Amino acid sequence: MQLIDTHCHLTFNDLAGDIGAVIERSIDVGVTSWITVGTDKEHNQKGVALAERFDNMAATVGIHPHYADKVTAEDIAQLKDLAQNDKVVAVGETGLDFHYEPEKKPYQQKLFEAHLNIAADLNLPVVIHCREAFDDTMDMLKQFGRPGLKAVFHCFSGSTEQAKIVLDRGYCISFTGVVTFKNARIKRQAAQIVPLDRLMLETDCPYMSPEPVRKHKVNEPAFLVHIARFLAELKGMDFDDFTADVTATSKAFFNINP
Ligand SMILES: [Zn+2]
Ligand SMILES: [Zn+2]
Repeated sequence: MQLIDTHCHLTFNDLAGDIGAVIERSIDVGVTSWITVGTDKEHNQKGVALAERFDNMAATVGIHPHYADKVTAEDIAQLKDLAQNDKVVAVGETGLDFHYEPEKKPYQQKLFEAHLNIAADLNLPVVIHCREAFDDTMDMLKQFGRPGLKAVFHCFSGSTEQAKIVLDRGYCISFTGVVTFKNARIKRQAAQIVPLDRLMLETDCPYMSPEPVRKHKVNEPAFLVHIARFLAELKGMDFDDFTADVTATSKAFFNINP
């Protein structure tokens, strides 16, 4: 079995300090590839540098919507430069998040559009962070208008209806350990309808450890196995068949060679 953690933050303090052991524990349980996701200038650079150290690691570069009001034109130019590194497989995470500061919407929209343009220019997929902003996110993707954009909705927290809309537009959906939580009934219903050629797995570590290791404060790629097991069971599938399918989906989406 070989799983890919398609969205982790390996440059964050909780993991970066002990990265050798984190990677070792991950490989031990069959999580053998990682995509470390950028959230700001500092972590974009660190993520690319880290990915250069490990054969089966790739990076994404992006500026999280939380920082949208502080981004300069120079930051965007730097992002585009770094996105052309061989280890970079996607642009993001980017998107809209109206949970904390909905008044920053115009800044977030402008930043999201800049990411979409970079992705389209460089022919890279986009990793979308969408929180309490589903309709606005879909509207922006619709209006963007440049054909062939590949996108994944990471840490999907929408309903079955919303999952259908995402799938109808041809995008992928990725699930974190949140789907294993007791109160996640709506998310589990959504997961039921996502076909395996559109479904990916991620820990989003160091946040949100899945059940049954939820009490571990620091999540890590090794715990991806729990999410995989949970979803295979939910879909009534053989575990090895399930993991083979989602790994194939992830490789195709991020254009990662075996
Ligand atoms: Zn996110
Ligand atoms: Zn993330």
